[in-house]
Amino acid sequence: MALTDYINTMGRHLRARHGERVHKLCVSAGFVCPNMDGSKGRGGCTFCNNASFAPQGQDGGEVARQLAAGRAVIAKRTGARRYLAYFQAYTNTHAELSRLRALYDEALAQPGVVGLSIGTRPDCVPEPVLDLLADYRDRGHDVWLELGLQSAFDETLARVNRCHDFAEYHDAVTRARRRGLSVCTHLIAGLPGETDWHARETLTRVLDLGTDGLKLHPLHVVRGTQLAKDWQRGGYRPWTMQEYVATAADLIAMTPPAVVYHRLTATAREPLLLAPAWCAGKWQVLNAIERELARRGARQGSRLSQVNKVAVFG
Ligand code: SF4
Repeated sequence: MALTDYINTMGRHLRARHGERVHKLCVSAGFVCPNMDGSKGRGGCTFCNNASFAPQGQDGGEVARQLAAGRAVIAKRTGARRYLAYFQAYTNTHAELSRLRALYDEALAQPGVVGLSIGTRPDCVPEPVLDLLADYRDRGHDVWLELGLQSAFDETLARVNRCHDFAEYHDAVTRARRRGLSVCTHLIAGLPGETDWHARETLTRVLDLGTDGLKLHPLHVVRGTQLAKDWQRGGYRPWTMQEYVATAADLIAMTPPAVVYHRLTATAREPLLLAPAWCAGKWQVLNAIERELARRGARQGSRLSQVNKVAVFG
């Protein structure tokens, strides 16, 4: 058995849709974040250091050159010939519409690029941006809108200085899905003050509103963040791998089979990563999630009847 026998992964979804392997290629397009530039806040989320997830070797050069470099690496490593341009770092809708259109057009014009994945915040998707993305989708491109939510609890969102609330997510996901756009919701397990119960409750609220994809990862402590200071003085305890794996297995079993899991863990590179150490390796976490699902006799969607029971009687 493999992870894809238990979970509707993004790789499985893209292969079924395109009949061949499709890879995401990261693009760093020089955006900033409204939670850093003062539009919404200053200082950013307490856990955020964008360098921890920016791919190595990317220096914010033009889109075509970055995609060509990524394509060369991936084609050599996997033989893939099709790609999604993934605008990942910072807030990739936080600019004038004309600039967004120019960047997205440039990405879609590159060889093998079949679509876009746009990472952004729920408070940064005005109607013209959603219309632009829907237009790409109508022209036959794959389009994913990736909304960072992290938690459905406003107390937690305030505690980690997200500078948006759940109502803003509710509004964004409703407007995007009304246009038929595919939404991937980003969630973090292990946020300060949260337990496994919060993670399950967050997922329940997200599924109640409807989402097409999920990206789940454990909270890790990286250098240069407020969270690192909290952790250093004992104010934050990272989850153990066992805690994360058990919670991830719960969430997967609660998730309808049609929802696509874009990611199930996240890694940070040395020397940025401070804790927990197990977040340095992707495969040990993915393999442990697969083993846990097998041990439980569970798979994606296998606990849906229980979720419905809670919704009815809870
Ligand atoms: S996590 Fe996202 S929203 Fe928060 S500060 Fe970083 S880039 Fe901005």
